[in-house]
Amino acid sequence: MAGSIDTIRSLILEGAPGEELAACELPESVRAAFVRREDQEMFDGIAFEEKDPRKSLHVDEVPLPPLGPNECRVAVMASAINFNTVWTSIFEPVSTFAFLERFGREGELSARHNLDHHIVGSDAAGVVLDTGPGVTRWKPGDRVTVHCNYVDMEGHEGHDDSMLDTRQRIWGFETNFGGMADIAMVKANQLMPKPRHLTWEEAACLGLVSSTSYRMLVSRNGAGMKQGDVVLIWGATGGLGGFACQYVLNGGGIPIGVVSSQDKVDLLHEIGVEHVIDRKAEGYRFWNDDGQDMREFRRFGKKIRDLVGEDPDIVFEHPGRQTFGASVFVVKKGGLVVTCASTSGYRHEYDNRYLWMNLKRIIGSHFANYKEAWEANRLAYLGRIHPILSKTYELPDAGEAAYQVHHNLHKGKLGILCMAPEEGLGVEDDELRARHIDEIELFKRFSD
Ligand code: NDP
Repeated sequence: MAGSIDTIRSLILEGAPGEELAACELPESVRAAFVRREDQEMFDGIAFEEKDPRKSLHVDEVPLPPLGPNECRVAVMASAINFNTVWTSIFEPVSTFAFLERFGREGELSARHNLDHHIVGSDAAGVVLDTGPGVTRWKPGDRVTVHCNYVDMEGHEGHDDSMLDTRQRIWGFETNFGGMADIAMVKANQLMPKPRHLTWEEAACLGLVSSTSYRMLVSRNGAGMKQGDVVLIWGATGGLGGFACQYVLNGGGIPIGVVSSQDKVDLLHEIGVEHVIDRKAEGYRFWNDDGQDMREFRRFGKKIRDLVGEDPDIVFEHPGRQTFGASVFVVKKGGLVVTCASTSGYRHEYDNRYLWMNLKRIIGSHFANYKEAWEANRLAYLGRIHPILSKTYELPDAGEAAYQVHHNLHKGKLGILCMAPEEGLGVEDDELRARHIDEIELFKRFSD
């Protein structure tokens, strides 16, 4: 059957069998959100805050990516914004075309990625349309979510932990053909079963941040949190932080959320986070003109002790330069700071005496290996971890959604509808949804 996006969409919405989708010819071009190589210097000399994703992120038709061995093309019903979409669209800290060029030099198949447009997006929920040679576990019609660990495992380095593979990449950031498109291309080993009780947009907002939080906190590769651990969570209503709160609560830990407004404080109380610090209301100034201010570190540490009576076992770090010194200072003797990012600057400073004398540790963490991503997805599949979706945009408004995240105007996650014509579709298991509807609705309060 001659295919168009409308035909494919209709078949998916009707719940047509996989054979019908498999028989449907794919269009030669698809709608996608992308940045252009020719624009990569457009923000040179402009301050970080003024670099505007709405100017650099385009939505237009681009050629359909050709399918290779062990790959699948997926009809993306919904995707989600991650901070890496912001980085790509403001060409910071480096233009992602540099990643595509390096990837392109690896061989014939990877050369397909080195184009003059970079399709962004590291999350997706959708339906498998076709599979390349060698794919045996997935077939057209399968409903899937996509995790963004893009790796062949050809080398030996990653066989214990695929994140250690020297060629590991983040799909849709360090590779092309990401999730913000009507059809995306992925490696078969990126696919996971879509939680059947969630809508497309709810399912799409889980992959990247939920898996990252899982590795940071739960996995033995991260903090290996245990019952009763006190965990300080920066940005506790943000993408990563919202899932971190859930993992800590689920695992019998004691979260302390740090946020920047009263409505975020209220929200955290509502989802069961008892101890919350409003960093704006407290007016912490960890840095002054002379460098870092230890008095402010002490004031912050005292606030934590006043709240929970002890220092944190674990600090969940990602703001970076602005907070890292304070994180190392306040974590308990023998405790650990687990970090995956540096939103406010990657040149961290901390007083090493507090680290070594107190036997503290710092762990670097990045996304999640296959097993961790699968385990995080399983918890969502079982209804034990819930999506934190505050708002959903249409694909043509991807730039606006990225702008909201860039300026910290959002809570939780922002979804992007690609092939799904409206929100609320894709639920297959009404009974499981009904069982968890209170929690799902509670987390939707992030949108209030
Ligand atoms: P969000 O923007 O959704 O949330 C981040 C939150 O951090 C904000 O909402 C804000 O909360 C808080 N924050 C921001 N700046 C500061 C600051 N200077 N001091 C204290 N708190 C601050 O982003 P994500 O949670 O999705 O991602 C956070 C970072 O982690 C990004 O840099 C992202 O690129 C990175 N990341 C890395 C991954 C990896 O695998 N390495 C995976 C996923 C994300 P509030 O204002 O309420 O305090």
